[in-house]
Amino acid sequence: MSRRTRSRRRTALEAAKRPAARPAPPAGRSAPATAPTGPRRRPLLPALAGAAVLAAAALVYVLVLAPGARRRTAGPVPGTPTNVLLITLDTTRADHLGCYGRAAARTPALDALAAAGVRFSRAYAPAPLTLPSHASIMTGLYPLAHGARNNGHDLAAGTRSLAEIFKARGFATAAFVSAFSVDSRFGLGRGFDVYDDTFDAQAALKGLNAQRRAADTFALFSRWLDRAAAGPFFCWVHFYDPHLPYDPPSPYKEEFAGRLYDGEIAYMDHYVGAVVEALKAKGVFETTLIVAAGDHGEGLGDKIELGHGIFLYEETLRVPLIFRGPGMGPRPAVADGAVRLIDVAPTVLDLLGWSAEAAGMQGRSLVDRFGGERREDLDAVVETLFPRENFGWSELVGLVAGPWKFIQAPKPELYELGRDPAESKNLYAGEPDRAAELKARLEGELVRLAAAAPSDGTPAKPRPQDLDRLRSLGYVNFAPAKPGAAAPDPKDQVGVLDLVQRAQALEYEGNFAAAEPVHEEIVRAIPDSPESYINLALVQARLRGLDAAARTLERGLARLPDSETLLARLGFTYAAAGQAEEALKTMDRVLALNPSQLDALTVKAGVLDASGRKDEARALYERALALEPESRFLRLNYAASLGSAGRLREALDIYAKLADDFPDDPLARQMAGITSLYLGETGPAIRDLERAVALKPSPPAYLHLAWAYEKEGRAAEAVQALRRYLADPRGESPANVEKARAALERLQK
Ligand SMILES: [Zn+2]
Repeated sequence: MSRRTRSRRRTALEAAKRPAARPAPPAGRSAPATAPTGPRRRPLLPALAGAAVLAAAALVYVLVLAPGARRRTAGPVPGTPTNVLLITLDTTRADHLGCYGRAAARTPALDALAAAGVRFSRAYAPAPLTLPSHASIMTGLYPLAHGARNNGHDLAAGTRSLAEIFKARGFATAAFVSAFSVDSRFGLGRGFDVYDDTFDAQAALKGLNAQRRAADTFALFSRWLDRAAAGPFFCWVHFYDPHLPYDPPSPYKEEFAGRLYDGEIAYMDHYVGAVVEALKAKGVFETTLIVAAGDHGEGLGDKIELGHGIFLYEETLRVPLIFRGPGMGPRPAVADGAVRLIDVAPTVLDLLGWSAEAAGMQGRSLVDRFGGERREDLDAVVETLFPRENFGWSELVGLVAGPWKFIQAPKPELYELGRDPAESKNLYAGEPDRAAELKARLEGELVRLAAAAPSDGTPAKPRPQDLDRLRSLGYVNFAPAKPGAAAPDPKDQVGVLDLVQRAQALEYEGNFAAAEPVHEEIVRAIPDSPESYINLALVQARLRGLDAAARTLERGLARLPDSETLLARLGFTYAAAGQAEEALKTMDRVLALNPSQLDALTVKAGVLDASGRKDEARALYERALALEPESRFLRLNYAASLGSAGRLREALDIYAKLADDFPDDPLARQMAGITSLYLGETGPAIRDLERAVALKPSPPAYLHLAWAYEKEGRAAEAVQALRRYLADPRGESPANVEKARAALERLQK
């Protein structure tokens, strides 16, 4: 399994995931449409100066007199913010917040933002999925246009995000995200100076609990704000806590016993409050526009689904949406018409005075609704590819139009939300004319949206190594859609869905023995989904060892011989079981299907490296790095491989660059120091090793620091480093420990 293979390199991977800065995006992926123009604290003012006076006068004329110009009415009157802070609330149902009417909620921080800002009472996510929705918030585009239509897809090249717009205008840009679904590799990192997706990748691989808690994400944000508060900045903080499994820390766990989902929301809200307090402490709260938005809701079993992703019902599509910024308040405003998450970006740009930047976006500014008077409902297109790609069932697409919702499915659905908010009565058969009209309207919209899709990039397929982690987030089963095959309606697959949800719940509880037979049933129910076998194999690997897992994967391959995903899995399993030759053979089959399969390249390189075939290994690391040049993991391994081949100078160059890119990474710093020492450069060695132990004490860093001090004749410091080393030489070889003891004795004489 990849998780096993990777866990052997746990330290390197963990350290590699820790650094705070985002590396430069791969070549060709970052193309800001606007040239940098330098910092602009008050964006409109520079345009009013000097030679631009006439143009500015024309602009004022347009703003004041033109039809459709902004109308200010009672309620909050927004001023131009200096900074923008976007807080996304993963998996948060609007109707589970106090300000959206839930009496039992404990969400004082979000309620306070709503009470002094604008709350949209009916906001729709474009998809009940994390990445598609976040990409829509960032780009103002529907998933059909931005390309990230399911978790694991890539944001299409050529789409422009808020971060890129802010960066091009000289703002500091930073993101602190909490889950793999929004990992920078999917494209959301473009435009961010800092994109911190350093949540524990190991945990994501290991358990089914791949979230970074709000406390950790907040701490990173807060540290960054210490440096960046002077602004102007655009910052995104993503809280993931309400996602499954629901396990808030104490005291929320106890206080919300029996309704832990609400406990997760309450816990998250505490950190929304902490973010607000941090802004206040820096004196920038009043100059910062805060946007709080959900990405999708959660089924909670209200209709069919416990989680989200498969269906397009209200509980997974209705999200909180709150704006709070300069000039707003103290009077709250509630805007009641239906709006969409694609409207967030155009609204933010409008509030900054940059509405021209929203050209090409599919959402529209909501600023004219800030007064709170009810406006017309905006049509919302909603979709999910998740059932198609994850289960081989039909995808769903729908249109919310005023009080109506139409869902295109093998068995179409029509609901009148005004009268039937629980969507309990399908009116499709009873209202054929309305259904036909909405269907035609939806199809027209889809054609229009597809035409707006960027022409210079087609979304890439999800990569198997990402699917592993997505699976751990509850996004399972990327079954290949069989072209032409009639896919079943997800509504008719409730039995299988129950199995999947049961297996998932058992795994969340750690009850793998009970999950195994359920996975067996799933294999029988969806035998053409590679992930059915993979999920079973993952459980078997825990229960019965790698051989049992390999047999299951081989069984899957007998039915699906060309499945790259299954082959890659099997290759990992062999590698983890120490079957080097089988691993190499299997990974060669993967690479024959897909020469740029990153996991196959990485595992093959690792196996060759471990079996002493260093030159071949290095060549593969190079191929992998060509695909993923920013990978800290690959860079560390490649440098180690160069070092062990005696190419110390080249290794040092890589470590030094890593330490530069990730100044908070102790491992890169430590390796740079050790390599300098081997090169005889004690000065730089001491500098890097001192920095490494300051970041994170480690036995190898103390030991090499001691040798470096000794070489420089700094005996007292060498003694101190050796004492620290000997106080906790965990993981060190007895020979090293003995050498250190001898040196300590010698130096103390
Ligand atoms: Zn989400």
